[in-house]
Amino acid sequence: MNKLQTDTLVIGAGSVGIAVAYYLKKHDPSLDVTLVDCGQPMAFTSAQSGENYRNWWPNPMMRAFTDRSIDLMEEIALESDNILQMTRRGYVLATRQIDIDDHLRELEAGYTDSPENQIRMHVGDANGGYRPAIVEDWKSAPNGVDVITDKAVIEKTFPYFDKEVRSVIHIRRAGMISGQQMGQYMLQAFKEAGGKRLTGKVDHIDHAEAFSVRLAGAGNFVQATRIVNAAGPFVGEIANMLGIDLPVENWIQQKIAFEDTKKTIARTMPFAIDLDPQCLDWDEDERGLLAEDPDFAWLAGELPGAVHCRPEGGDRGTWLKLGWAYNSASVPVSFTPEFDDQFPRSTVHYGGYYTLTKENWPLLGPTEVDGFYLAGALSGFGTMAACASGDLVARHMLNQDLPGYAAMLSPMRYNDPAIVATMNAQQNPGIL
Ligand SMILES: Cc1cc2nc3c(=O)[nH]c(=O)nc-3n(C[C@H](O)[C@H](O)[C@H](O)COP(=O)(O)OP(=O)(O)OC[C@H]3O[C@@H](n4cnc5c(N)ncnc54)[C@H](O)[C@@H]3O)c2cc1C
Repeated sequence: MNKLQTDTLVIGAGSVGIAVAYYLKKHDPSLDVTLVDCGQPMAFTSAQSGENYRNWWPNPMMRAFTDRSIDLMEEIALESDNILQMTRRGYVLATRQIDIDDHLRELEAGYTDSPENQIRMHVGDANGGYRPAIVEDWKSAPNGVDVITDKAVIEKTFPYFDKEVRSVIHIRRAGMISGQQMGQYMLQAFKEAGGKRLTGKVDHIDHAEAFSVRLAGAGNFVQATRIVNAAGPFVGEIANMLGIDLPVENWIQQKIAFEDTKKTIARTMPFAIDLDPQCLDWDEDERGLLAEDPDFAWLAGELPGAVHCRPEGGDRGTWLKLGWAYNSASVPVSFTPEFDDQFPRSTVHYGGYYTLTKENWPLLGPTEVDGFYLAGALSGFGTMAACASGDLVARHMLNQDLPGYAAMLSPMRYNDPAIVATMNAQQNPGIL
């Protein structure tokens, strides 16, 4: 039996655990930090990410949180000659509606307190200063949001959109990164700063003065003063080992990638989202049969909006990625998740779990067990929010200044009636 000793043990070497380990060593190089995972780093949920980022949220707290993460990703891009391949063509949200007041209210709610994120209306104005995202360079992209309601401008700029699209909202501080490169960069920096790594599956934790963490099979124990639980979809299982019941669910999300052999979409298209609910294109007989079957009736009715698509492989690539977060069924987690076998076989079909709270805010910070921290529930935004999550948890642990959103993202927020009221008042949790 081996007994290893460390000050801080981070469980989980996905984007989030790696970012916590990286920012702990960055803020305090003398700290003894060990990162443990039962598999290879960045190989579970983080390997499935669409690698998109945005500061678009219907509430200002999540907008400020992701803005902070984008600031930190920019820092890494600058110091590493853009090793994380950050580009910035934005997110374009398209709808067939002319009356987009609801969408505008959400935009205002998200951006109101952020002067650098102006909302620019291009109403009925064919040359009203809208700058399409021709280049992908993040440094030259504007901030803020452009709202375009001029049909001619929409058709000229986005000729591949449905001709019925009447309004387009272009979120500018958004784009793509290589989440894998970012993870590898932070992991390398962590190791160079003296951070340690272990391989093993945590299957039991005892807590007295310190934590005694058992690794399955290997007969190893790790003695740690503090633990960060960054186990992705297994964040709930690790918390259970210390008697904590987390308010998280796991939903399977699946995506497809395929070659755009007909070149239907320009390679310069930003990440594009169809906001409108959809009905699948069945004939009447098929729709009737589906509607009669309790397992498939949902396919016959209206499905939620937010089908999204983007070019994959850069400006000279030929592939597209397509996603649609229509599924919201909570399932037990497994290291070998099962996907729907109805997806077209001619596509590359992949996916993983969205691990999320009801309000879709992550759990980042201390828990009621002294020395036990959470870095989880990053839903569909854990790649883009990894840096701000790692930085925030490290700040909590090192007693450093905390950003304004810290209390709202803390696992202790459920004890604060004002925060609970804000959570409950939220209409749109921004799941994509
Ligand atoms: C299909 C899909 C598309 C997505 N697209 C985007 C996107 O475009 N942009 C974006 O920002 N986010 C996206 N996300 C979300 C993002 O991928 C996740 O939020 C993020 O990867 C979560 O990282 P993590 O480190 O928390 O979890 P993980 O990557 O799952 O890492 C957790 C680690 O913990 C380890 N572990 C678990 N249990 C144990 C144990 N008992 N002992 C030891 N190790 C353990 C696992 O092996 C794993 O390596 C997407 C997610 C999915 C599923």
